[in-house]
Amino acid sequence: MKRIIPLLGLLALLCTGCGASWEPAQVQFFAMDTVMTVTAYGKQAEQAARAVQEKVNDLDKLWSRTDENSEISRLNAHAGDGTMTALSPETAEILARAMEMKEESGGAFDPLLAPVMDAWGFTQSAYRVPEEGELAALLSLTEPDPELTYDDGFANAAASLKTEGQELDLGGIAKGMATCYAARAAREYDIDGLLLDLGGNLYTWGEKPDGSAWKIGVKDPNDTAALLCAFPMNDRTCSTSGGYERYFEQDGVIYHHIIDPADGYPAHSGLISVTVVGDSVWADAYSTACFVLGAEKTLDLWRAGEGLAGQADFVLVTEDRHVYLTEGLEEGLSFLGEENGYTYEIVYR
Ligand code: AMP
Ligand code: MG
Repeated sequence: MKRIIPLLGLLALLCTGCGASWEPAQVQFFAMDTVMTVTAYGKQAEQAARAVQEKVNDLDKLWSRTDENSEISRLNAHAGDGTMTALSPETAEILARAMEMKEESGGAFDPLLAPVMDAWGFTQSAYRVPEEGELAALLSLTEPDPELTYDDGFANAAASLKTEGQELDLGGIAKGMATCYAARAAREYDIDGLLLDLGGNLYTWGEKPDGSAWKIGVKDPNDTAALLCAFPMNDRTCSTSGGYERYFEQDGVIYHHIIDPADGYPAHSGLISVTVVGDSVWADAYSTACFVLGAEKTLDLWRAGEGLAGQADFVLVTEDRHVYLTEGLEEGLSFLGEENGYTYEIVYR
């Protein structure tokens, strides 16, 4: 098993022209099974960075599948027994968003894949290749959808999983949802600029002290020390999903952690990495979903211009080293992949 822990940026940050006056508060911590880095500057940069750490740790306690006291674990433990488990607004919101994404992606994103993830050993790092029949039985647990009730603002929420054995795994959306809450927490303080890197979900806000824009780099999935491209970004999140992020190898075959709910096997859509730039929650969920859907279906969704996909931008990297970039990323784009044999095209609506 190889797990690549991101340095500052699963997507690297390009910090050009940083003046000597830039002394940001920087906090790094481990949560949600990954490294998180907060960089803030301004009068209350230190407080803002600490507030992010506190918020993310709180969310991790609510959503962790491995902590038996988390709300998600309690919900999972009651699957099929008819109990409605009370949920915090944060947990209700992530569950609602995850189910919305399941619908919007036509089932390519499915938060009920936990039993399948377990069968592959991704949850406990005990890797194995399950039989087809075993996967088919576990996939039947992705239906029906959970019952979820809440009032305005996700208050007074409760949920239940209808069938025994059903389990939620929010790994494909949790860091994006956390990015959304973290950005909100930081911006309660008097800060001028903010960069969040929550396990590869990069959010930028404000500007650098020299007034220049943040520029975000996307890693080459075949050579993660190199950058494929870079573009300016503000008040948006850039989220990447790639098979290279977590995988194991058996008998010369690589099995990665993004599962196609159609058959329970690691997705093989022809894409090796998907980057989505947009709203935090949707960028994370879409990067996972589109890795399953493949380039053609993703670009069809984007071209349609409707729903969540229509508001986002995409960087799609195919296994034969072609890169599709949607038009919203063209301005200020630096393409750096030629040396590693990549070609690219801008896709227009
Ligand atoms: P990400 O790194 O955001 O693409 O998320 C990958 C994680 O999402 C995996 O480690 C699983 O926890 C979960 N996951 C895997 N496949 C799917 C899928 N098809 N739909 C939703 N979540 C998934
Ligand atoms: Mg994701």
